Amino acid sequence: MTFPDHQTRKEEAMTRSQDKYQKKADKAEFKRIKKSGKDETFRESEKPRRGRPEKDTDHARGKDPAEAKPPKKKSRCPVSSRCGGCTMIDIDYDTQIRQKQEKVDNCIGDYVWVDPIIRMKKTEHYRNKVTSVFGFDRKGKPVCGIYREGTHEIVPVKECLLEDLRADRIIQTIFELLPSFKIPVYDEKTRSGLVRYVQVRTAHRTREIMVTIVTAEAMFPSRNNFVKTLLKAHPEITTIVQNINDKETTMVLGSRENVLFGKGCIEDELCGKRFRISSRSFYQVNSLQTEKLYNIAIDYAGLSGKERIMDAYCGIGTIGIIASDKCREVLSVELNREAVKDARYNAQINNADNVRIVAEDATRYMVDLAERGEQLDVLFMDPPRSGSTTEFLRAAADLGPKKIVYVSCNPDTLARDLDQITEMGYDVKKAVPVDLFPYTTGVETIVLMTRSKS
Ligand code: SAH
Repeated sequence: MTFPDHQTRKEEAMTRSQDKYQKKADKAEFKRIKKSGKDETFRESEKPRRGRPEKDTDHARGKDPAEAKPPKKKSRCPVSSRCGGCTMIDIDYDTQIRQKQEKVDNCIGDYVWVDPIIRMKKTEHYRNKVTSVFGFDRKGKPVCGIYREGTHEIVPVKECLLEDLRADRIIQTIFELLPSFKIPVYDEKTRSGLVRYVQVRTAHRTREIMVTIVTAEAMFPSRNNFVKTLLKAHPEITTIVQNINDKETTMVLGSRENVLFGKGCIEDELCGKRFRISSRSFYQVNSLQTEKLYNIAIDYAGLSGKERIMDAYCGIGTIGIIASDKCREVLSVELNREAVKDARYNAQINNADNVRIVAEDATRYMVDLAERGEQLDVLFMDPPRSGSTTEFLRAAADLGPKKIVYVSCNPDTLARDLDQITEMGYDVKKAVPVDLFPYTTGVETIVLMTRSKS
């Protein structure tokens, strides 16, 4: 399947914008989707990925479900029918790319010509964060792997086409070591046992590796010997953390942690800057594509060195810190406390003295700034899947930055937010999707908006 050429897509876009009736119908459909997808608050990359039921399905997005279904030949992945994590695992990459382009075109094509999606060269094993569920199968045998789609039944998985193989191997070793240390896996039904999940994060440049063992209680039998044995098998591990999650919840990580080995976090490099990442902070799961994403977003802003910019929903501070050399001042805002700590540390180690990290709800902070009549030249915003809020957008428009660069992981909520902000005096100038999640329906989009002349 070849990618439709520029002319064909442009003609398609023109036909679409001429067809007003269709436009109205699309909007009504979009509103319906918006309503049904209200409770989806995770980013694609943040979801407890292995086997959680996909709420944001192709069907829910108004697509023909048959379109994204794999053909009936043998799947590349032995557990694909049960896992449900990669809905596009058996679709060739050109088709995946075409479908994602169409998805973004359908959502925001009325506002702007969407540039061709940025593809990934090597599409496998890109995930730098891997989470495995530990528990029992139906016969009561201990297993680790994924939840079967839509259930809490665990399907054993040793290797996944998307995940970093070093992470997969470490998870297998931990699983095999547990019996000899008499450490039981957790049983969801009886709420007994200890190990609930293992999460591994790998840094693509520094090669550092963090292992987080999620336990139901604080005790950890033979902790020192266990750590010693694990490190002997995997000397590449740079830190091991015990996370305690004693709640009945679908969230993987709890709020308490003990560092068992190393510094309790990893550092990686992105776009020439160094970033500390702790277990509970958000970090994009595909580092190679993230560099492309950030470079384009910063390029869209066309910074001269004189601007005061904001990085809203900044996570560990990445976009603002990377942009800090190219502007006068950066205000970054983030709600998650662990991420804020990382972001402050990251500003320091990169000598980014012009970056201020604010721990606050992005909407509240934006409203405060607008009430104080502060000055802002460029706003970068990278909200979670649920998108931003009307109050945030209203306050942003009141502050009136010349440019807004919106980085979105959900074309539906992006379209909803563009609907609003274009009513508030902004024009959409450029847009490009970036494929950060091959074999899944996830897609990132970068949009440039400028303040209307009138
Ligand atoms: N820009 C960062 C993070 C994007 S993910 C990056 O590229 O890595 C979205 C971030 O928004 C997460 O770190 C999440 O903790 C944060 N967040 C979610 N709701 C928020 C809110 N209401 N106010 C501020 N930050 C929020």
